[in-house]
Amino acid sequence: MQHGCRHRPPESSIVSTQLTELFDSNREWARRTEQREPGFFSKLLEQQTPQYLWIGCADSRVPANELVDLLPGELFVHRNVANVVAHSDLNALSVIQFAVEGLKVQHIIVVGHSSCGGVRAALNDLRLGLVDNWIRHVKDVRCKHEALLERVAPEQRLNALCELNVLEQARNVCDTTVVQDAWARGQEVVVHGWVYGLHNGLLEDLRITAAAAEQVAPAYRAALAGIITRYHAA
Ligand SMILES: [Zn+2]
Repeated sequence: MQHGCRHRPPESSIVSTQLTELFDSNREWARRTEQREPGFFSKLLEQQTPQYLWIGCADSRVPANELVDLLPGELFVHRNVANVVAHSDLNALSVIQFAVEGLKVQHIIVVGHSSCGGVRAALNDLRLGLVDNWIRHVKDVRCKHEALLERVAPEQRLNALCELNVLEQARNVCDTTVVQDAWARGQEVVVHGWVYGLHNGLLEDLRITAAAAEQVAPAYRAALAGIITRYHAA
């Protein structure tokens, strides 16, 4: 009986230890990008001037640049589980500060997505481990809107909470000292809340759009009313 190669699994099922396929793809991507626009990388080396800060979910199905067809240098990105902006999260706050004060982005967009696993865990009290402590922030949103969520059809509750979470996190962005100070000195920064549909690849504006401190509360109320109408939760 022969041993060895005969029983070797087919090439595709061998686990790559060096991830050479990713390096191959990277070289090809860099070649195509430079071919399409000669000098692309040397130009980016000098400076980045993105107009947008994207705060999104870490979910692999929601790749920020691809969704809006933007190139490197055009989108400043922060992602975490369930697109949370917590007042005490130095990571998110540092990103927001650098984006607003350093890069002078004109728009900060909180982007949630339908069927978000982090939001599902918050809604259904799933125990996943350490991340449960992070998801507490989304549970806070669920608690705040408990009465509203009870009026939503059970099969729509997850997506309703995804939208409510965007609403609250966008408001948290507005309430940061960084954004409040920017508005106070007259810097143009607009905060937005969007939701991405995993089922159709489309972004939807929840219309919590604020460009000044006094716009936050009315924008929040209008966007909340929109969610209530959309989910028949009046
Ligand atoms: Zn998610």
